[in-house]
Amino acid sequence: MTITEPTTVPTALDRARAALRATLLEDRVLIDLGSPGLYGRTGVFEHVYAAVDTAAVRSMADLQSSVLRFPPVEPLAAFERTDYIASFPDLAASISAFTGDDRAHRALLAARERGERWESFLEPADLMLAPAVCHPVYGLVTGTIPQQGLWFDIVGDSFRREPSLDPMRLQAFHMHEFVHIGTPDSAKEHRDGRIPAMRSLLEGFGLEIDVVPANDPFFGRVGKILARNQVEASLKYEFVTPVYGDAGEATAISSANLHEDHFGTSFSITTADGETAHSACLAFGLERITIALFAAHGTDPASWPADVRRALAL
Ligand SMILES: [Zn+2]
Repeated sequence: MTITEPTTVPTALDRARAALRATLLEDRVLIDLGSPGLYGRTGVFEHVYAAVDTAAVRSMADLQSSVLRFPPVEPLAAFERTDYIASFPDLAASISAFTGDDRAHRALLAARERGERWESFLEPADLMLAPAVCHPVYGLVTGTIPQQGLWFDIVGDSFRREPSLDPMRLQAFHMHEFVHIGTPDSAKEHRDGRIPAMRSLLEGFGLEIDVVPANDPFFGRVGKILARNQVEASLKYEFVTPVYGDAGEATAISSANLHEDHFGTSFSITTADGETAHSACLAFGLERITIALFAAHGTDPASWPADVRRALAL
């Protein structure tokens, strides 16, 4: 049997992505870890990343959100209630661990010695890598919420199994989210009311921004319907920036999402007047904003335009 490599000619977008990736690696902004979409980060990256995060937090300071932080893994039982596996099975990832005895360990080592895969000796550990940082909060507020609603400031690790050589698409990344749980009106107000401020914050970084209805990559045939509903109901808006110019579509670097009663129903959250709570979250994609900045202004922040440096307090 012969295996023939597909002979695909790289598109202008492929070339633009490869060029940005090469620049970020050569200029020591990111470090290649040998797996697509996984990078180490150097001081210059962290410097800009921290400045982006600080500016994002400052722009939401008046919400007086309660700060919550969660580990990068979540209990399987909590993950189940979000229904994520129904919509995005291809992005989800679970943790497995070795629970066997000496004999099973010897079998694992023998397989490894033979150059075989040994992960089948591991058992599911009832833990999932967190795909979205706001997920754990809904389980914490089950029951009746206060009249005025709740606001949370959440940042943490997210993992989505989406290997790509596009440096704008990482597998392990962070989002800083500002979540509101309240009534249908207050959730919509949280989502819509903040869009102009988020837009001007990102534009202040010297990025060209468009706000567009989002089209999440829901899985499979049913997913196509879900994606269409998401657009038609205008549930999610993305702040996109043309990282690769005319070579490809603009990339989302932040989003404003209305979940309606999705989490309120799944987690039995009710408002003071007994209705199912609605929720919304505003999410800053910290790595994506940071890399978009390097793409737009170059890899030396000292040479960035003065107004951009000022907006980021660099
Ligand atoms: Zn969220």
